Amino acid sequence: MLTIALSKGRILDDTLPLLAEAGIVPTENPEKSRKLIIPTTQEDVQLLIVRATDVPTYVEHGAADIGVAGKDVLLEYGGQLYEPLDLQIAKCKLMTAGKVGAPEPKGRLRVATKFVNVAKRYYAEQGRQVEVIKLYGSMELAPLVGLADKIIDVVDTGNTLRANGLEAQELIATISSRLIVNKASMKMQHSRIQALIDTLRAAVESR
Ligand code: AMP
Repeated sequence: MLTIALSKGRILDDTLPLLAEAGIVPTENPEKSRKLIIPTTQEDVQLLIVRATDVPTYVEHGAADIGVAGKDVLLEYGGQLYEPLDLQIAKCKLMTAGKVGAPEPKGRLRVATKFVNVAKRYYAEQGRQVEVIKLYGSMELAPLVGLADKIIDVVDTGNTLRANGLEAQELIATISSRLIVNKASMKMQHSRIQALIDTLRAAVESR
């Protein structure tokens, strides 16, 4: 059995057409189904539906052989995974943002984000002392109510920031979703996984 971990939403929507080109089609709609393990038209391939931030965990520990995860999630996760293919989907940018026109704070910068590891690394590289405040969502609120000076979040159109009087400031990384592979699976099922990678690469390149 080849097990592929995916998260609902953007990644699932954009990955299913690529998998279809490799002849892998879920037998029921994962977006609608309550099932977390979804069989596919290939008897020996199944999908696991997990939270986006959990995809690398399932793959690193071998509960899934393969997964699709945003580079933002992978940068935050770290871990030991193969990342053989940029699927060029769910593109966005990982950026700092703050209130429009707000001056830089004099003391220690307070940064609210769910990307705690990314934030620490980014400011450490700049030699800047910061207090990183972990949030799980709605980061845009933090500067508005004085919880933080800045946030680090993924930005697509920037509409969410604008709607909250914030502006994108520094680019930390450009983001797209990546195919990730468990290291042992890559050895044990090499020809099969390599064939899937090649098919998906061709599908990505033909777009
Ligand atoms: P925006 O288009 O900038 O208003 O994006 C709206 C929200 O969608 C952002 O705050 C993010 O939380 C989320 N978002 C946008 N693009 C992505 C992506 N590629 N992956 C994950 N989340 C995203």
